[in-house]
Amino acid sequence: MSEEEGEGTGAEKPRYETLEDLPGIGPSTAQKLRELGFHTVESLAMATVRELEPAGISEKKALAIISAARSSIGIAFIRADELLRMRQNVLRLTTGSKALDKLLDGGLETQTITEFYGEYGSGKSQICHQLCVNVQLPPERGGLNGAALYIDTENTFRTERIVQMARHLGLDPQNVVKNIIYAEAYTSDHQMFLLENADEVIKENNVKLIIVDSLTAHFRSEYLGREMLAVRQQKLNKHMHKLIRLARAFNAVAVVTNQVMAKPDMFFGDAIHPVGGHIVGHTSHTRIYLRKASHGPIRIARLVSSPYLPEGEEIFKITENGIEDISEEEKAKSSGR
Ligand code: ADP
Ligand code: MG
Repeated sequence: MSEEEGEGTGAEKPRYETLEDLPGIGPSTAQKLRELGFHTVESLAMATVRELEPAGISEKKALAIISAARSSIGIAFIRADELLRMRQNVLRLTTGSKALDKLLDGGLETQTITEFYGEYGSGKSQICHQLCVNVQLPPERGGLNGAALYIDTENTFRTERIVQMARHLGLDPQNVVKNIIYAEAYTSDHQMFLLENADEVIKENNVKLIIVDSLTAHFRSEYLGREMLAVRQQKLNKHMHKLIRLARAFNAVAVVTNQVMAKPDMFFGDAIHPVGGHIVGHTSHTRIYLRKASHGPIRIARLVSSPYLPEGEEIFKITENGIEDISEEEKAKSSGR
C-alpha cells in the first residue's frame, strides 16, 4: 500500500455528522429537509438544488449546502485512477450458488443496481430472501456483515423462509430476522416515499442490501394504458435514481425485481417484454433474466446486460435450504432443458 491510499490530500476536510452541523442549516430548515426525506449528510451530498427548493432554500444556499455535504463525504471531480480506487471499494455479495456468483464475477456488486426479471415463480423473491440472509454473513463467507432493507410490494416476504435459510447456514434465526428491516408498500407513491425516507434507517442499521420486490407491480397496475406510459416511466426513473444514490452513498447492494410475461406475438426477436420497459433497462446496471427449467427446482439465470461482463447462462436450484448449486447428476439430467 502506498502512502497516498489514506485520506488523500492532507488538507483538513470538515466532517459534518448531522444536518444541523452543515453551514446555514438551522433547526427549522433541518426539520423541513427531513420532511423531504433528507435525513443524513450523505443524502444531501447526492441531492439536486431543485430537490431542496420545497424546503424554502434558495438556489444559492442549496448549492452551498450540497457542496459542503459533498466535501464532507469526499465527492468531487476525481482522476480516473481515483475512480479505479473507488471501484476497489465495491464489495460483493454471494447469491448462495457458486454458478450464479461466477456469472456475476463473484456476486452482486455494491454501488450498482441488480435487476432480476422473469415470469411468476421464476425465483425472484426467493433470491431476495436468500440475499437478506447472506448479507449478514462475514466477508470470508461471501457476506457484508450488514443488515437488509426489504421493500415488499406484493406481500410475498415470509419470515419463515428466512428462518429456514438462516438455519441451513448455521446462523441464529432470531438474530438474522432482527437484521431485516421490512416495509410493505401499498401504492407506487408509498413505495417511492419509503425509499425517499430510507437514508436514516440505512445508516443507523448498517444496511448493506436494499431490495425492492417488486419494483414494477404497483406502477403496472396504477398506470394503465399508453397515455400513462410516459408518467410511469418518469416516476420509475426517479425511483431508480434514488435507489442508485443510496447504493452509492452507503456502499450497499441494490436489488430490484421485475415480473415479465411472455408475449411472443408482440415484438419479434423479443419474446420477453420487461414491464418497466427501457428506462428500467437503462438505469439498472446489471440485469438477470430468470426462467424455470422444464420442471422441478432448477432455474436458469441469464446475464442479459452488465456494464462490463459478457452475457452468459448458469443454472441453480431452489430448495428448502434456499438458493443452491445443482449436483453433477442434476446437471446431466437438465442438459435436455
Ligand atoms: P417470483 O419470481 O414470482 O418472485 P418466487 O421467488 O416466489 O417467484 O419463487 C417461488 C418458487 O420458489 C416456488 O414455486 C417454489 O418452486 C420455490 N420455493 C419457494 N419456497 C420453497 C421451499 N420452502 N422449498 C423449496 N422450494 C421453494
Ligand atoms: Mg416474487
